[in-house]
Parts: sequence; C-alpha cells; structure tokens
Amino acid sequence: MKNTVPVEVSARHVHLTQEQIEILFGKGHELTVKKMLSQPGQFAAEERVTIVGPKRNLERVSVLGPARKAGQVELSMTDCFSIGIKDAPVRESGVLDGTPGVTLKTDMGEVTLDQGVIVAKRHIHMTEADAADFGCKDKDIVSVKVETNGRSLTFDDVVVRVRDDFALAMHIDTDEANAGSISGDVTGTVIK
Ligand SMILES: [Zn+2]
Repeated sequence: MKNTVPVEVSARHVHLTQEQIEILFGKGHELTVKKMLSQPGQFAAEERVTIVGPKRNLERVSVLGPARKAGQVELSMTDCFSIGIKDAPVRESGVLDGTPGVTLKTDMGEVTLDQGVIVAKRHIHMTEADAADFGCKDKDIVSVKVETNGRSLTFDDVVVRVRDDFALAMHIDTDEANAGSISGDVTGTVIK
C-alpha cells in the first residue's frame, strides 16, 4: 500500500468569477496564464488584486485560474489577523456559507464579495487510482507526518479529496508550512 505524498504550499490567493474578472480587469478580459499548477488545468495568473481589509490591505495577491462559479479568498490565519478579518473559518474549498466577505480592487475596478474568505482546510488531492493505492476514499480524515530539519510534525485533520481530474498532492498554507519549516521538495507520510 502506498503512503507517501508530495507536500505543496499554497500561498494566499483568490479565485474569481468571469464577471468579477471583467469588473477588475476590463470587459471581455480573460486571465493570463503565468504558471500551470500541479492540479490539471489550474494555473497561477499574471493578474493581481488588492485585498482591502478592515485594518490594512494586502497588495498584489495572486489570482488562480480558471474562473470559478463563486469568488473565494484563501488566506492564512496570520494574513487574517494582519488585515483585521477576525472570523474566517477553516473550510474546504467551495464551502462558503456563512464565511466573511471582503472587497477586492485593482486600478480598474472594485468588487465586494458578500462571502468567501476562508482559511483552507489542509487536504490531499487524489485520483480514484491513488485512493485505491492508499486505501482511502473521498472525505476520509487522515494524518500526515512530515520530517524536516528540526521541526518535524504530524498534521492531523487532513481531508482526502478524490476526483479523477486531480493529481496526487497534499496542500497546506504558509502558516502550516512555516510551523514545520517546510519548503522545496517535501514528502509526507500518510497515517490512517
Ligand atoms: Zn488543493
């Protein structure tokens, strides 16, 4: 049975609807691919936005493409404290009911999301074949041990997400990465 996963660190970013993209970057605008990400079809865009917080702003925040059905802002807890958003919950991507809203702006426009600010719940993307190899299924909660120089740790509460258009990778945010001195090519061991 397989038990190791590549660990990838997601920095703060936003997902936008096509309508929001056009408000922020101009009518008919489409996101420009800067770099393809590990998940098939997903990319970091050239476009950047400013997140307007109650206490201060976060400038030049990455936009990830392609456009989605709902805007979503993924921040670390450190980001949330820094800009004054107090009540962002730890959530899986796309589960936005009851999350705080926020305003995004560029030189061209401004959009206020009624909801959508989350601290992403750490997760592992798997295909059906991966899930069979690991003996896991969608929505399982597992632990992942990561060994680094002097800050090894085990992440509990890691949700497994299975879809055939995923590629095998664990995603953590920058706070979680810093807690474990995780950077570069790091592999975790899944513990069930
Ligand atoms: Zn992910």
